[in-house]
Amino acid sequence: MARDLSHPAIPSGDVWNQTHDAMVRRDLRGRIIGWNTAAERLYGWTWAEAAGCNIQQLLHCRYAREVELIQEEMAANGHWSGQVSRTASDGRELIVDMRCTLICDTATSGEILETSWDVTERNREAEAQSVLDHRYRNMFHAMVVSFWELDFSLVRAMIRDVMIAGPRDMRTFLAGNPVFIDQAMRSTFIVDVNDKTLDLFGAATRDELIGRDVRRFWPPQSEHVYAASLLAAIEMKPHLIAETQLLTLDGRTIDTLFTVSWPTDNKGKGSVLVGVTDLTDQMAQRRVMRQMESDLAHAARIAVLGELAASIAHEVNQPLTAIATNGEAGLRWLGRPVPEVEEVRALTGRIVADARRASDIIARIKAMSAKRAPDPVPIDINDLIREAMLFLTHEQQAQQLTLTLDLAPGLPPVVADRTQLQQVIVNLAVNAMQAMSGADVPRRALSIATLATDGAILIDIADNGPGIAPDHMDRLFESFFTTKETGVGLGLPICRSIVEALGGRISAANRDGGGAVFRLLLPAA
Ligand code: ADP
Repeated sequence: MARDLSHPAIPSGDVWNQTHDAMVRRDLRGRIIGWNTAAERLYGWTWAEAAGCNIQQLLHCRYAREVELIQEEMAANGHWSGQVSRTASDGRELIVDMRCTLICDTATSGEILETSWDVTERNREAEAQSVLDHRYRNMFHAMVVSFWELDFSLVRAMIRDVMIAGPRDMRTFLAGNPVFIDQAMRSTFIVDVNDKTLDLFGAATRDELIGRDVRRFWPPQSEHVYAASLLAAIEMKPHLIAETQLLTLDGRTIDTLFTVSWPTDNKGKGSVLVGVTDLTDQMAQRRVMRQMESDLAHAARIAVLGELAASIAHEVNQPLTAIATNGEAGLRWLGRPVPEVEEVRALTGRIVADARRASDIIARIKAMSAKRAPDPVPIDINDLIREAMLFLTHEQQAQQLTLTLDLAPGLPPVVADRTQLQQVIVNLAVNAMQAMSGADVPRRALSIATLATDGAILIDIADNGPGIAPDHMDRLFESFFTTKETGVGLGLPICRSIVEALGGRISAANRDGGGAVFRLLLPAA
């Protein structure tokens, strides 16, 4: 069939077949009267096959709107554009974007020229994207975690300027520049937040947050976490997770788990995603637990002091006896016809020293029995062990046991509460002595050794008592596990909770030659 390409709206000659868009001419009843090469490619029918066919029957066209409405629009405007679903010769379902133009040569006859292009794939991708967007939007809003999308681009520029100004250690720079941190917070803007964020931070509407900076959410005690997130960004870490306190709009301080991540594909845009989980309840529970642990540890200390009462009485009694003896001797020297002032001076010196010794012992007992919040300070572990042994001197003598201290010199300090750590050492030593006292051991020996290992300090407390029965080994650190008639079974669990709170470990084992060894591993400061 010859192609009539004479109308000005219809591309002529080569253009008709060279254009990438599928072009179809049809009369007003739908009979195909023109079909270019791109149409052959798109629909799979050759011009010879399509010629004269009804387009509706050939391609099974399905419109999003009613055909009558489309025809009305064509009649009124002379053209129509929209999407149409069609079936290709091989059964493939296509979606084409189409523009139809009405070409009227005379009042009674006319034709329609349609230009179309395949948008099937593009629509599929857009659909998939919209499903994804919808899903993530849903997740973003439905999660019980507060989510924030922040614009970090200004802060990135600030950091870049600092780094361009000269090479420097950014960690030191950030630590020493609170003004920079403050400015960075004021330059971090909120792009979007989810519903949970409004809830958690006491905002009535999104407008109270979106477009604002984040300065007012960071209390002074948490600013270092914001600084750490800047550093993580500089060091190209993918995310940062930290427990921190944040402020709400109504001025409450909330305990949170703060996570910040830099989406890799958005790096250039300076976008930051923040998740905030409310830990207020957990923290309150943790505080109650800590209080209970501290109360229990206190009770256990008092109990140990009770067990050591004889030793303590002996320790205090010794200097007191010396004071009395020296006092009496002094009086005698003073009672002479010519008082011996020099002798009395020397005796008085000894009285003062003994009084100090007694008062030191009482101070130590007071510290052990005091109930106060733990106060972590750097501690020389060897000193602490020597001091703890003073509590045990009397028991040691009474039991005639040999005490060996093998303390490595120059150990790094351990940061801990002095009384609590002393409690651990005293507890383990008292347990060792008690184990040996009940056993038929020819020569009782307690040895305490310290050693520095990889960033940690190792303390071994070993005895040559009966050791630990194999079926007790797993239960030693359980609360209320005891094999003693008057035991409570809280000493070891308390030791463990003190040691683990310091990031350390405690373990027990039997020694090859008999006896038990308790090993502490404490992180060095
Ligand atoms: P308690 O001293 O009140 O029994 P602990 O928790 O301190 O509570 O100790 C629990 C148990 O662990 C003891 O009853 C004892 O059976 C065992 N144990 C602790 N230290 C030693 C040790 N050095 N040798 C043998 N057994 C020990």
